[in-house]
Amino acid sequence: MIINLLSDTVTKPTKGMLDAMLSAEVGDDVFKADPTVNRLQEKIAALFGKEDALFFPSGTMANQTAIKLHTQPGDQLICDKWAHVYNYEGGGAAFNSGISCKLLDGDRGMFTAGQVVENISNREDIHAAITRLVAVENTTNKGGGACWDIEEIKKISKVCRENDLAIHLDGARLFNALVAKNETPKQYGELFDTISICLSKGLGCPVGSLLLGTKEHIKKALRYRKVLGGGMRQIGYLAAAGIYALDNHVERLSEDHAKAKRIAKVLETSPYIKMVEPVETNIIIFYVADGINEQDFVQKLKEKNILITGMGQGKLRIVTHLDVTDEMVDKLIEVLKKLY
Ligand SMILES: *Cc1c(COP(=O)(O)O)cnc(C)c1O
Repeated sequence: MIINLLSDTVTKPTKGMLDAMLSAEVGDDVFKADPTVNRLQEKIAALFGKEDALFFPSGTMANQTAIKLHTQPGDQLICDKWAHVYNYEGGGAAFNSGISCKLLDGDRGMFTAGQVVENISNREDIHAAITRLVAVENTTNKGGGACWDIEEIKKISKVCRENDLAIHLDGARLFNALVAKNETPKQYGELFDTISICLSKGLGCPVGSLLLGTKEHIKKALRYRKVLGGGMRQIGYLAAAGIYALDNHVERLSEDHAKAKRIAKVLETSPYIKMVEPVETNIIIFYVADGINEQDFVQKLKEKNILITGMGQGKLRIVTHLDVTDEMVDKLIEVLKKLY
């Protein structure tokens, strides 16, 4: 038994999901003729109270399309210094949209409305790049699955409206935040112009993301997705996995969160651990004590068939997901208790 705690993207489709995929009705989605894709897009748009949605092969393509929708070359995007759109999308904001990023020094990937206000450029000043877009990430990836206070997002959304800025939510793991904070998709739908959602993370699909917005946004997004090479054909097989996940894999995210908290508790009392970041969802970030080598720690677990991520400088990451059983958590805890 391999216990893979590297990421929530390592899940394999469940039997129920595979059955749903195999029996999907499909068509050529480039001609908008795939009924299952259309059903998924309508379903998620209704869930968030948005006008329309579009299926994408990846969260990166969905985010990059959103950035392109809201900006012109030379414009500036405000985001946290840890944001996925800045750090982990291959420099796509510059490559695809020709924009720069103004990085905010937030807390675990989260910033305040005040910080946004301070960083909006003066549009009358010809020396400054025009601030056009603010991107929020919930839960924060690099911030260890931290969840935003929705009250702060409301303030940021208001600042954006008052200053003629668009606001995009990178909600790759938004459902983790909704479940952890007992919030609803509609609460987020009304605060953002566009939202991206990953089906391939905690929701357990093999592939897929969605971008939500107005009919106008999605009409343009369809063109940008084509330009980026993301036009796909009989993807109803994949959309069926998405529909299945929305129906069956949302509430259960609380189980992943409970497992992460159980693991964090053991780490907190382990003498060879220096610090464990607060665990709010399914990601545990922790630091080994001085004198313990991080790669050695990773290797010791690997010898016991347990895979975790070493992030450098003594920082490590464990992620729980659909394919992590209680039995696996028991085994991990047993191993951790006698590791050093
Ligand atoms: C995973 C992730 C994405 C999208 O990643 P893809 O691998 O392109 O699907 C975007 N934002 C965040 C915060 C993520 O964690």
